[in-house]
Amino acid sequence: MKDKQDQRQLDRRSFLNSMGVCVCGTSLYGLPPFSAYTLNEAMAAAQEGGEKAIPTFCGMCGPSSGCGIYAFVKNGRFIRVAGMKECPTNQGAVCAKGQAAPQWVYSPQRLKTPLRRSGAKGEGKFQEITWNEAISIIADKLKAQKKQYGPESLAMLSPARRSYSDYMQRFLIVHGSPNYGHSGICAMQRAFAFSYTLGGQPMCDYQGSDVIVVWGKQPFFSGPAQSGAKNYLAAKKRGAKIIAIKPSIEPDSGMADIWVPLRPGTDAALALSMLNVIIKENLIDASFVEKYCYGYDKLQEHIQKHTPEWGEKVTGVPARQIQEVARIYATARGAGIDLGNGVEHAPSANDAIRAVAIMMAVTGNLNRAGGGGNRLGGGMGPGGGSGTKSVNLKERYTQEMVNKLVAPEFPKVFQPFMEGTSSAYYSILDSVLTEKPYPVRMVIAPGTQPTVSTRGTKRVIEALKKLDFYVVVDVTRTADMNYADIVLPTETVYESDHPFESMGGSIMARSKVIEPLGPYKSIFEFFLDLGVAMGYGEDFWQGSMTACMNDLLSPLNLTIDDVRKYPLGKSLQPSGGAPGGAPGGPGPGADSGGRGNFESIFQAKSGRLDGAPYLPQGKVAIYNTTFEKEGYKPLPEWREPPESVTGTPDVAMKYPLTLSDYHTSKCYTASWQRNVPYLREVQTYPMLHIHPDTAAARGIKNDDWVIVESPHGWMKVKAELYPGIRPDTVMMLHGWWQGCTELGLEDFPIGDGGANVNNLYSVDPDKAFDPLITAMSSQTLVEVRKA
Ligand code: SF4
Repeated sequence: MKDKQDQRQLDRRSFLNSMGVCVCGTSLYGLPPFSAYTLNEAMAAAQEGGEKAIPTFCGMCGPSSGCGIYAFVKNGRFIRVAGMKECPTNQGAVCAKGQAAPQWVYSPQRLKTPLRRSGAKGEGKFQEITWNEAISIIADKLKAQKKQYGPESLAMLSPARRSYSDYMQRFLIVHGSPNYGHSGICAMQRAFAFSYTLGGQPMCDYQGSDVIVVWGKQPFFSGPAQSGAKNYLAAKKRGAKIIAIKPSIEPDSGMADIWVPLRPGTDAALALSMLNVIIKENLIDASFVEKYCYGYDKLQEHIQKHTPEWGEKVTGVPARQIQEVARIYATARGAGIDLGNGVEHAPSANDAIRAVAIMMAVTGNLNRAGGGGNRLGGGMGPGGGSGTKSVNLKERYTQEMVNKLVAPEFPKVFQPFMEGTSSAYYSILDSVLTEKPYPVRMVIAPGTQPTVSTRGTKRVIEALKKLDFYVVVDVTRTADMNYADIVLPTETVYESDHPFESMGGSIMARSKVIEPLGPYKSIFEFFLDLGVAMGYGEDFWQGSMTACMNDLLSPLNLTIDDVRKYPLGKSLQPSGGAPGGAPGGPGPGADSGGRGNFESIFQAKSGRLDGAPYLPQGKVAIYNTTFEKEGYKPLPEWREPPESVTGTPDVAMKYPLTLSDYHTSKCYTASWQRNVPYLREVQTYPMLHIHPDTAAARGIKNDDWVIVESPHGWMKVKAELYPGIRPDTVMMLHGWWQGCTELGLEDFPIGDGGANVNNLYSVDPDKAFDPLITAMSSQTLVEVRKA
């Protein structure tokens, strides 16, 4: 009996074993999962072990969690997770983070109670208060600031789209502030450049493409378990040729047919030189170009200077390899490009994405089965895609609000965009210091840690010190909570019964796994409570989460109680299929032949207040007259990062290596979860990937502590000798600061000398940002030496 119970509990050895398999790219990411059940199997397993099995969703990663799980509870304690075989999102797969959820829930680093600062900023002295006291202190301050400085003096920070993003925007819209702060390095940059070039965002067709280019993306560790890795492996199995474009080898590039090891941040140069080959060798689809593209003649002339030899100089990729991959992509029967977050971290990000989009169009791949054209329009935006009411009150945006943006993420003329109006995350904080065009006075930061999430840590800390009022809302202690005036501890999703989730044509209620372990409420209730305290009760369902969910479900003639009767979700579409053009499903313009209905897609209206279409000519915007009209370059260009071997050779004399960072890993979501022992045992230290030859030249051995220094700052991390990286490049995972109490691991300093890579990057306003989409550079030059 004991043996059986031991099997049920997630023990350390089995966890580590499963992670070992996971590293090879199977088990936890799909084949087979660590443990997966149908509802009946889960109930039987629970009965056998004297447990309860509760169907719900995982909550261990963003932007919004979607993996169905069975959470097992024994004697009132959440003990383990199994995958839900019936869930279309993950089909039973659960990743390492999802498996480790019980340790996150019971972490000694969880915030225990609401706090009010009692010492100086940064000192870390707080007094305990109640939730209601905290809400009323915030509301009083907010009312006073609104009266004195206007509603725009409030900003909220959101690193990426989260399940609660619409609630943030709803609050800001009702309050009257446009300052929703995006990170400037995630997702919206692709959405913007694709929309203004193709009218929508194409989704790579892993099932249909003969050639798949995985570009700046990590399909195994990012996004929900199952879709990325499983699709990749299935494509590989059916013989698709896979080309991986990234500076170092990860599981996907390790299995790829061709690895294109470009220098970090040079994606635009690579795409431009590939276009040069395609055009020079006439590998275009002339009839598609003629019928559906605007400005090809101007591109032909423009692209002459971007030869493969020029591309080799900038990217470090041999000219012959640039030619090879351009030819393979252009001549395939159907080739798709899965463009990831990695391309969004450079001052030329918009041009890189535009050049890739143009490549999709001129080669005709957009118009071929497997080329992604049938999936144009898949993407992101406010909720409501499943037929439920949207939380976001987008219809209330006014020109006056747009004009008040403190640091527009996209130029004001392009606002609001998909998610609404937005200011750039880092630039909001910078405006606190510069007071230009006006100082933001209060920042609410739910589920984000600006000192480790964005560039320019030193200025971020100065801004947090200078803010009138800073509110942290999170589950565990955060890197910057010592600068907060109020800290609010929230429930984990396992302690909450809302909201519901839409997936694969059905709606499923979230189920509470255990009662909250402290005086916690959910992040959704935070916005409802604050709304009521501000006098906005009518727009916040008078503080009732049940009323909120019933209201959102009302277009479907459902209540949340109706939905709860279906533990595996209430089906809305008998034929299945992802609703609303959700990622992975055909977009709204798909036709039955698997190609795009371009007449419809190319007329798509933008989210701007005037509703102007993304593509004024109703064609692919190779030559972009919309950008030109607003004073931006109409054709994609190369723009050097603030420091690079080709752009600043003088700096490279002292700092010869290019540094960049990874944003996904098998264990951690951004800067979260270093406090979870199972995960931390697998990835214990911040490791710098460095080529063995580069290390040997510096007398560095595997596991040595090393100093990494750039012109802007330095950090101390461990070296991992890594043959699968360019010898002139070093890379590490971002987000390191947090210790792990159970393993006796201390926090790292946030500033210089710690493991926070953001200290090392430039935030020069003239060089470090993409001029159109404020993408921030995560490349610099460094030298590495033994500590
Ligand atoms: S990918 Fe992993 S962490 Fe994210 S929802 Fe799925 S199981 Fe949870």
